[in-house]
Amino acid sequence: MQEIKTEQDLKDIQLEGLKWTVGHVYENSPFYRRRLDRAGVSPSDIKSLEDIAKLPFTEADHLREGFPFPLLSVPVEDVVRIHSSSGTTGKRKILTYTSKDLQDWTDFFARAFRMAGIGPSDRVQIAVGYGLWTAGAGFQAGCEQVGAMAIPVGPGNLELQCQFLQDMESTCICCTSSMALLLGEEINRRGIKNKIKVNTIIQGSERCSDSMRRAILEHFGASHLFDITGLTELYGPGPGIDCKEHQGIHYWADYYILEILDPDTLRPVKDGEIGEMVVTTLRKEASPLVRYRTRDLTRRISGQCPCGSIFPRHDRILGRSDDMIIFRGVNIYPGQIDEILSDIEGISSEYNILLERRGGKDFMIVKVERDSTGDPAWDEDIRNHIAKEIKSQVMVSAEVQIVDYGALPRTERKSRRIYDQR
Ligand code: ZN
Repeated sequence: MQEIKTEQDLKDIQLEGLKWTVGHVYENSPFYRRRLDRAGVSPSDIKSLEDIAKLPFTEADHLREGFPFPLLSVPVEDVVRIHSSSGTTGKRKILTYTSKDLQDWTDFFARAFRMAGIGPSDRVQIAVGYGLWTAGAGFQAGCEQVGAMAIPVGPGNLELQCQFLQDMESTCICCTSSMALLLGEEINRRGIKNKIKVNTIIQGSERCSDSMRRAILEHFGASHLFDITGLTELYGPGPGIDCKEHQGIHYWADYYILEILDPDTLRPVKDGEIGEMVVTTLRKEASPLVRYRTRDLTRRISGQCPCGSIFPRHDRILGRSDDMIIFRGVNIYPGQIDEILSDIEGISSEYNILLERRGGKDFMIVKVERDSTGDPAWDEDIRNHIAKEIKSQVMVSAEVQIVDYGALPRTERKSRRIYDQR
């Protein structure tokens, strides 16, 4: 593979890959050919990176067309593996891989591990799902490629995790952030922290507040917590990770083009503004993606990272575009409110946003819980502080209500935050 030294090198690879992908899908996928014909674009129209804007979008629903092999762009004999993610509605999404796709995935996953400083002296406890899920297979292959010792424990089972952490002296654990917190608490409950050698935690980039991150690091006595991104449609986990500076996620722009678009207008947002991640793969053979709408929200981070990496950065995943609300003409994502609240002392992690219409006008009420040890005498100060932060960061006025600890509903599954009664 050619060495990437400059931004121009990256752009050259992207243009070459974009041309290849459009030609490949046009020739080999009836689905994409139909979509491109309908949009009036042919492979010869792709002359510069800007021409990506001419291409039609691909959405999750399209993966249900052509079941069981949607987007398939190679003869089925060339497929050496499938993975699947659970669809929330209807059939599962099934994605196909050629042996080159698997090699590419392994190569960039190894790059992610290296960015997190993992190498031959490491022992990597992989506490994510194996099987149809992409997670286990991806972590395993990347780990072996960098020469580290893979310890494929799989998800759940705190007892087994604790045993292996001690017996194998694992230096790195890969899991979800909820699992990292549970396991960290368990380590402390058992009083075995001094027997744990974990220095590095690599977690799937789900929304996780800064206070939760601090708690996880503290429980393990670890030095680094990395966010790794992942999407089954885009091979699986591994297409991006933060570096040791932890100032954003570097993504592998030589494997895919990332556009960040306003989910409403589908036009690029300004640099640094929140938008939906739309990805186009540059070398994926079996199930290529052309402007695939991931529904994940983030923002671009401009400038060079202090670590010196040439790979561009985006912020953590800030939520889903399906969760976006439009309030008095402003796009708001629950993740933004999350971020603001997690920096404020004296409140718990639970909150609700209630949207109401009174006298033809929209009103936003943000309900937050007082901390379990909080004093109601501080309510007034906290209320003003939160309202001020929301006003300055999200540019809307909200009425803030402080309620007792435990007053808001709890769920073991994903909490509902927004109640839109307009
Ligand atoms: Zn960096």
